[in-house]
Amino acid sequence: MSDCIFCKIVSGQIPCTRVHETADCLAFLDIGPLAPGHTLLIPKSHVRDITEASPELVATLSREIPTLSRAILGATGATGLNILQNTGPSSGQVVMHLHIHLIPRLEGDSLGFRWNAGSYAAGQADAMRDRIIAALQHTA
Ligand code: 5GP
Ligand code: ZN
Repeated sequence: MSDCIFCKIVSGQIPCTRVHETADCLAFLDIGPLAPGHTLLIPKSHVRDITEASPELVATLSREIPTLSRAILGATGATGLNILQNTGPSSGQVVMHLHIHLIPRLEGDSLGFRWNAGSYAAGQADAMRDRIIAALQHTA
């Protein structure tokens, strides 16, 4: 996609700090790191988000995560990672090219991550399960 910033990174039109590359994937440092070593893992082919990705592409991307995670932990001294994938603007997705964030974490860092959890009233969890199961039957 000609106007996609991550496609431009893949093609070399925009520089990046590359940490890992395969035939299908690229990992590079986020330009606005939430912590040192914050890395983005992307497919080289343009896919808007996880809902548009094939299972094969997700598998190809996911295959890189364990090794990349160990490397980031080892290099940064972090003791944990948040692995985050934003899908759609309402989730916070700004760059519309599928990407996975790997965010190094340390005990007591100031990033935070505990979102406000809700709860289901009686019967609502079962009703939601039924809706998701029904939707699965109509979703390729
Ligand atoms: P999103 O909010 O879409 O999940 O995350 C997009 C991420 O891409 C942000 O964390 C942002 O800092 C990063 N980003 C945006 N533009 C560039 C860029 O040109 N280079 C790099 N390395 N990261 C970028
Ligand atoms: Zn793209």
